[in-house]
Amino acid sequence: MIEFRGVRILLDIEGTTSDIAFVRDVLFPYARREVAPFLERHSHQTTVQSALNQMAIDAGAADLAHWCPHPFPSPEAQTWIGAEVGRWMDVDSKKTGLKALQGLIWESGYRDGSLRAHVYPEVPAAFQRWTDAGLSLAIYSSGSIPAQKLLFTHTVAGDLTPFLSAYFDTTSGPKRAVASYHTIVAASGLAPAEMLFLSDIPEELDAAREAGLGTGHVVRRGTVVAGTAIHPVVSSFDEISAVRA
Ligand SMILES: [Mg+2]
Repeated sequence: MIEFRGVRILLDIEGTTSDIAFVRDVLFPYARREVAPFLERHSHQTTVQSALNQMAIDAGAADLAHWCPHPFPSPEAQTWIGAEVGRWMDVDSKKTGLKALQGLIWESGYRDGSLRAHVYPEVPAAFQRWTDAGLSLAIYSSGSIPAQKLLFTHTVAGDLTPFLSAYFDTTSGPKRAVASYHTIVAASGLAPAEMLFLSDIPEELDAAREAGLGTGHVVRRGTVVAGTAIHPVVSSFDEISAVRA
């Protein structure tokens, strides 16, 4: 049990609000499966064309026309690009063009309702309880801020963005760097101790603690604490009672 008196709760996403397996088992297979049908519907969009041109550049070609052996758009080009995306994903490519295209495919899936982001069952009620107690809630995740907003707008429990006051990503710095937490505290206009950071990763919690934040180590059921737990451990947000200081 964690009893926090403060002003803001800062939350990691993967492994904290949401199952890590959602990305691995739902988001990535969705992007892989939907490339060709997505391109069939959205090939006229400039955002899609610029993602494909960036993929071509990432592959060492001048542009899409010099990369794809089929005229675009065409069913042959869609199939070829779909196979290429699959190959890049097989090697876990983080190239800019691929990430941009994946982002567009996920956005489309969230908007048409075929994708819903996982959150653990107690999360919505905990957000409500902490908000009712006068605290503000913020996200700090390595996923981009637009991706964070998309995720919390389209969760299995509905739109949770009304509970979220601020979003931070790696433009505030890496999650394992002490300076990142100084930056976030300063941007929030708070003293470090007025903020509680919740994460599943000990190294992130170590950095937050060194910056003066309170910490909570979220260890979801079925996972094992790595090393010695030196941060207060909870298996669910139900074990966190927070009041406004
Ligand atoms: Mg995490």
